[in-house]
Amino acid sequence: MPTSFDLLPSANPTAAAIRGDILDNPGFGRYFSDHMVHIRWTVDAGWHGHQVRPYGPLTLDPAAAVLHYGQEIFEGIKAYRHADGSVWTFRPEKNAERFRRSARRLALPELSDDDFIGSLKALLVQDHEWVPTPASEADECSLYLRPFMIASETFLGVRPSQEVDYYVIASPAAAYFKGGVEPVSIWLSSNYNRAAPGGTGFAKCGGNYAASLAAQKEAEAHGCGQVAFLDATENKWVEELGGMNLFFVFKDGRIVTPKLTGTILEGVTRDSVLTLAKDEGLTPEERHISIDEWREGAASGEITEIFACGTAAVITPVGELVTENDRIRLAAGSDNAMGKRIRSKLLDLQYGRSEDKYGWLTQLV
Ligand SMILES: *Cc1c(COP(=O)(O)O)cnc(C)c1O
Repeated sequence: MPTSFDLLPSANPTAAAIRGDILDNPGFGRYFSDHMVHIRWTVDAGWHGHQVRPYGPLTLDPAAAVLHYGQEIFEGIKAYRHADGSVWTFRPEKNAERFRRSARRLALPELSDDDFIGSLKALLVQDHEWVPTPASEADECSLYLRPFMIASETFLGVRPSQEVDYYVIASPAAAYFKGGVEPVSIWLSSNYNRAAPGGTGFAKCGGNYAASLAAQKEAEAHGCGQVAFLDATENKWVEELGGMNLFFVFKDGRIVTPKLTGTILEGVTRDSVLTLAKDEGLTPEERHISIDEWREGAASGEITEIFACGTAAVITPVGELVTENDRIRLAAGSDNAMGKRIRSKLLDLQYGRSEDKYGWLTQLV
């Protein structure tokens, strides 16, 4: 049964004119809508106190567990405005399921699908005016939704928190990369790994991102926008970027993405690309791919295209891989045609411009 959310309306909602200016040029992650969702959990009462309340600072005790031991998970999902004004989201049951998987790994309580999807709907009923309207098919604007869960018990001791808070905030977003989809240079991290067997690689937790930042700084020092990580055991198998999954398109029509073995985040975009690639006549393969196969396939022309994918940036072509010793480029160059094709197929679905034949859309408002 969907739970109902109590509404505490904002006393100072953003004026329509100011909101309009923000939506004309929202950037990414800079502005937030007028409300947020909050649900409280305690070990005795479970999940309770569902509410939509004014967006604003949290009050946390300085001894709150999350501040010391990093017991935190999050999600990222977008709301899209369709041409008829309705607002939809994409495969939220996948995010709900992943959120529960992340919760189990971080010893946090699991939130039901009804509460997860219900919380997105409850926020959007209130803040639907914050969903930008695309000016054209090239205008990839959306309302980015960020559900997250934190350990809020006041207690300096290492054990799962007995008090937890779940929130959803919303931030209007323009296309992630402004100036269009340009190939990105990627730094191959050799000093750091993102995830290890038995660790938290498959969970969407803040700690994974905190641990990736030193590598990200190295990437930037080498003129790269993103960082790629190898497996922690053999330093040989390609895993993913700091926040995006990787795909390799081969000349013979195969499309390869690293297999999920617990150290890779299971992206919703990754899963959708596997399906859409089949529609394009490609043969998807989930398997290990080594850095040597990348290097050799790029040099021989066997690999014709490489791209990264995730909710925020959709699909981004990889221009080159920069390592300590070399720069790996596709010998034959690439027009990135397949990545672009799959990208527009995905966007057409998300913005309601093509038939939702896989039932991937959920209406929020
Ligand atoms: C969120 C995330 C992705 C992409 O997942 P999507 O569901 O496609 O947005 C990929 N890798 C990491 C490490 C992530 O945190």
